[in-house]
Amino acid sequence: MAFSLPLRRLALEVLDLVFPPRCSACEVPGDSPFCAVCAETLLPVPAGCPVCGVPQDESLLPALKPRRCPHCRAHPPRFALASAPYLHGGALADAIHRLKYEKREDLGAALAVLFEACAVLQSDVLVPIPLHPRRLRLRGYDQARLLADGAAKWFRLPVVPLLRRVRETGQQVGRDRTSRERSVRGAFATTGEVLGARICLIDDVLTTGATASAAADALLIAGAARVEVRTLARAP
Ligand SMILES: [Zn+2]
Ligand SMILES: [Zn+2]
Repeated sequence: MAFSLPLRRLALEVLDLVFPPRCSACEVPGDSPFCAVCAETLLPVPAGCPVCGVPQDESLLPALKPRRCPHCRAHPPRFALASAPYLHGGALADAIHRLKYEKREDLGAALAVLFEACAVLQSDVLVPIPLHPRRLRLRGYDQARLLADGAAKWFRLPVVPLLRRVRETGQQVGRDRTSRERSVRGAFATTGEVLGARICLIDDVLTTGATASAAADALLIAGAARVEVRTLARAP
């Protein structure tokens, strides 16, 4: 049944009254993704490494040609560029925790609005960095897929799940970079045709970039032309 425009608007207003938008961190009604108080805690990512985005001392960053960080010079990641709008902390860290561990899959769409502040993409498709199927069964949903579906609206690109995790990598929290790199090596395989594709990986948080680099590696080996990464947040 087709609703007239005024009727549709009325329906949306009633829906807002019954389920008012709420802050993704503190649940105050009225604002989404964050209330004014929580929005104050968002920290835009400062200038940093042009590849992995790790914040760097600005005095060491020549204005015209920022230098790659020491790690990207010694061990270049497989992705061309990783960028996030905000540092991982404050209300954003709380909201991401709720999305991942408190069954708040509704926050995927709400938080995806933050991709609006991301660097412009040079990609044709969005590919979520997937959970292992066992973890997906336990959680019931894949937060990176929810974020990618939301990001698709901002970037006007299709979401194509071209990756699967073929190996469980366990908890990454608390591991150092070397241990993370070792644990995710060969953890991904492609599930579709990627030859020549320019791909943007989507995930919630970029920490060392080891997982994103392993995912990019699988895509590049299968023939992808370029892989970049966008996350909601990056480790400070
Ligand atoms: Zn709030
Ligand atoms: Zn770097």
